[in-house]
Amino acid sequence: MSKVALITGASRGIGKQIAITLAKNGFDIALNCRKETDSVIETKREIEEYKVKCLIVEGDVSKYEDSESITKKTVDEFGKIDVLVNNAGITNDMLLIRMKQEDFINVINTNLVGTFNMTKNVASYMMKAKSGRIINVSSVVGISGNAGQSNYSASKAGIIGFTKSLAKELAGRNILVNAVAPGFIQTDMTNILKDEVKEKIVQQIPLKREGTAEEVANVVKFLASDDSSYITGQVIQIDGGMLM
Ligand code: NAP
Repeated sequence: MSKVALITGASRGIGKQIAITLAKNGFDIALNCRKETDSVIETKREIEEYKVKCLIVEGDVSKYEDSESITKKTVDEFGKIDVLVNNAGITNDMLLIRMKQEDFINVINTNLVGTFNMTKNVASYMMKAKSGRIINVSSVVGISGNAGQSNYSASKAGIIGFTKSLAKELAGRNILVNAVAPGFIQTDMTNILKDEVKEKIVQQIPLKREGTAEEVANVVKFLASDDSSYITGQVIQIDGGMLM
């Protein structure tokens, strides 16, 4: 029986690539997106070419009732969830002086509360199964902080504390909980930056280039695989040496 992976925020970018990479490795995929668009349907087709099943599950992870329905639809279809990847995330960068409370709360609600919502729902199935992997997508700025990203950094630092706490809580049920902390990865999230800003960031990266969604997905694949069976509570940086 194939393993089942549920990936949040998989309409594009890193989440989409994680879904494709896990499909290539034989996982059936539950692909969460906020809205089922033509491009999401195209991704489903691409995934099915790897001879695995793919279910599109719409829902906003920041809403608890949506996280319940995303989880239920996945379990109804596949009977289980072996791997949860909490990838959905947003930015809304600005200096604190200009930041309204809602700018702070919206980012926390999607990135951190969304991770809580999905984990709370999925972990109850994994606990019954006494097995599972939860992989949370944090960021290097959750470790280092970053001017203009106090909301985003706080959400990503929160994900690290959440990951370590749950790794301790769930180890007895054979559920491994880890995080990845990408650095500067080429997606829509970073494409909004001006070329000169991008170039400045790249110059601070020892490998002198942006990372790719595939390079993040490959580490997630490792954390979802039997090869990482003695790793829990860790934060793996995928950043070309950006933060050491
Ligand atoms: P992206 O291209 O902007 O994609 C973000 C994804 O999250 C989209 O699929 C988006 O769906 C989805 N999403 C946003 N809010 C959601 C919600 N409330 N419910 C469900 N899905 C939601 O960004 P990305 O670069 O792939 O980022 C993926 C993850 O990696 C994020 O957690 C991000 O913080 C993290 N990360 C990225 C970088 C980087 O350099 N790119 C670095 C460190 C960490 P829609 O299509 O509906 O908007």
